[in-house]
Amino acid sequence: VNAVDTENAEQYSFSRLEKYAKCSYKYWLHYFKPVPRPFTGSVATEAGTVVHTVLDRFADPNGYNRTIPTVELLNHYWYERLKAEGIESAFYDLLALAHDYNNLLLRATFEYTGPDRIRDSNGKVSKQFRKTPDWNAAYSQLAIDARSRAINDVAARVMLPNEKTGVLEPAVWAHVQLTEVFAKSYRHLQNYRDTMGWLTMYVLEMPISRDKKQNRVNTVYYPGTNIEFTGFIDVIALDQSGAIYVIDHKTNKDKPDSNKVAHWEQLIIYGWAMHQIWGVYPKYMGINWLGDPAQLVVAEFDPALIPGALQRAMGRIRGVQHNLFIQHNPTDYNNACYNKYSEDNACEYLSLCHPRFAKAVGLYVPTWEVSTV
Ligand code: SF4
Repeated sequence: VNAVDTENAEQYSFSRLEKYAKCSYKYWLHYFKPVPRPFTGSVATEAGTVVHTVLDRFADPNGYNRTIPTVELLNHYWYERLKAEGIESAFYDLLALAHDYNNLLLRATFEYTGPDRIRDSNGKVSKQFRKTPDWNAAYSQLAIDARSRAINDVAARVMLPNEKTGVLEPAVWAHVQLTEVFAKSYRHLQNYRDTMGWLTMYVLEMPISRDKKQNRVNTVYYPGTNIEFTGFIDVIALDQSGAIYVIDHKTNKDKPDSNKVAHWEQLIIYGWAMHQIWGVYPKYMGINWLGDPAQLVVAEFDPALIPGALQRAMGRIRGVQHNLFIQHNPTDYNNACYNKYSEDNACEYLSLCHPRFAKAVGLYVPTWEVSTV
């Protein structure tokens, strides 16, 4: 590893180019910052980061953590994090809240046989979970909402120093609710079993071209250019025959099948980058899907898919280089601005790009003026 490299080489990670593919105009807003950025995080992104960190600790090839239940590592993570943020007492409140809520859910299941089971208005226990009057009464008796609010209010006041400038600023809890991120991280990891149990971990979070401090390491250039491909491979592992696996953790809603994994563009590019660094391709690639139950979905790596993936990447890079930043039309098929079936996923810049449309669908909020980080 060299000393910090101050040379400002052109660099593109897979996710950066994916952003360009999704909406080139949004890419411009994001990286060229002509207007202050609205907060773009979410419960899912925050929980995803927590889950990644805990799984790295779990699978650490230099530790023995694979014998420890992930839920214990998760508890440790949360305790340490909240302590560092000065609100470790929130950890115990969160645990008590999660415990009560889980028990409440349990009481509403068909299998539960205790005397305090939750029934519907006909006194029956339904096979499918429903918010019956019984449920609502038990829910308010446990003061779930008020307890969540109390925890989130405390968390929303946490101030932390900015990593670069050292200036104190509100923690992420001012934008997303701590209770929701905590609960989501538990949903992903409380029943996690070692999906990669038969594999030996080789390297975790392997940097390509740059490490987290921007030191040059494992440099990979896009073919025929001096443009760096950057990224981190979540897991490189070996099976007992020595075959190499390149694996990425994903918290997506839908579990992919092996055909989808075989064509997973990010893994194809990582396989190509591995060949550039070590001179070998992986034999397999996998998505470690963190649903319930979690599952590692594996497919054979096919080098024949590399040229197409690289062409698409180069096409996006050329777009950036030629200043091709074009707005989507929110009524176009498959646009990235707005989806009437999933309004929560509307683009955070909708009001900026298409104020008239945003007003018409009731989503006009000048977010970039009032909520910036
Ligand atoms: S609102 Fe539409 S055009 Fe504007 S940045 Fe978002 S996706 Fe792109």
